[in-house]
Amino acid sequence: MNDLNLRDKVAVITGGAGVICSTMAKSLAAQGVKTVILDLNPEAAAAVADEIKKAFGTDSIGVSASVLDKASLELAREKIHDKFGLIDILVNGAGGNSPAATTKVEKMDGDDSENLEGTFFGLQIEGFDRVFDLNFKGTLIPSMVFATDMVKKKAGVIINISSMNSYRPLTKIAAYSAAKAAVNNFTQWLAVHFSKTGIRVNAIAPGFLLTNQNRFLLIDEKTGDLTPRGRKIINGTPMERYCMPEELTGTLIYLVSDLSKFVTGIVIPVDGGFSAYSGV
Ligand code: NAD
Repeated sequence: MNDLNLRDKVAVITGGAGVICSTMAKSLAAQGVKTVILDLNPEAAAAVADEIKKAFGTDSIGVSASVLDKASLELAREKIHDKFGLIDILVNGAGGNSPAATTKVEKMDGDDSENLEGTFFGLQIEGFDRVFDLNFKGTLIPSMVFATDMVKKKAGVIINISSMNSYRPLTKIAAYSAAKAAVNNFTQWLAVHFSKTGIRVNAIAPGFLLTNQNRFLLIDEKTGDLTPRGRKIINGTPMERYCMPEELTGTLIYLVSDLSKFVTGIVIPVDGGFSAYSGV
């Protein structure tokens, strides 16, 4: 009764070579889960898989595929079947922002009418497409491809990776915020759709970590100090620090374990108090 029931389960972690998801993969491996590190970058995926095998003695493979290319995911599924059998857990971790979908100014003011480039009006539609595709369709398509195994098994868990931006958008990053809000909405939709199949669908909304995708906004390239925006995040986080990737793993293990069998359709913030804080 009191068993996480994770040993020898098979988990696919998309974006598995990245900062957050490589740590999530390791936390699953530590529970005896066989891990598939699925990433665009084959060398980085293989390196994470090797590290996992050495550190935890659980089987792991790196698989190169794009979360936006259904054919490449179907090919990946074949490789996974050959090596491990049917898939039990999917972590939809691939995601991120793009400078092309980021305004230069936080707020427009009346004097900007001659210089619209850095405002909402300068945002590039291609940037929106890229960010919506990666975060939203990059969650949708792998769910379509890998949950077919879960339907066969009448059991499975999907974990989507959302963000604090999904609740209240941060300035500048209009596309990323809207795309993550769509991920929350889709999490609820799919949870209801799958509710009688044995498949649970939930999401984790991390607070702020320093990673490759946001470094350009939060750290001054020349001095290495926090930018005013980086400082604002710290000021808005009651714990007054950035999140470490390991601090997301307790919520992950909770959500994937059989002890949470009645939990579906929720988004859990892991944010050092950010979403609870009014700033005063
Ligand atoms: P990261 O940039 O370190 O890792 C992303 C990984 O995804 C990379 O290894 C990259 O190669 C891979 N990837 C990119 N496009 C892909 C594609 N088309 N197909 C397959 N793989 C692809 O990112 P991270 O900061 O660890 O973020 C992981 C997730 O967490 C993302 O969904 C991100 O939006 C979310 N998130 C990050 C933060 C943060 O502060 N960093 C906060 C909240 C949520």
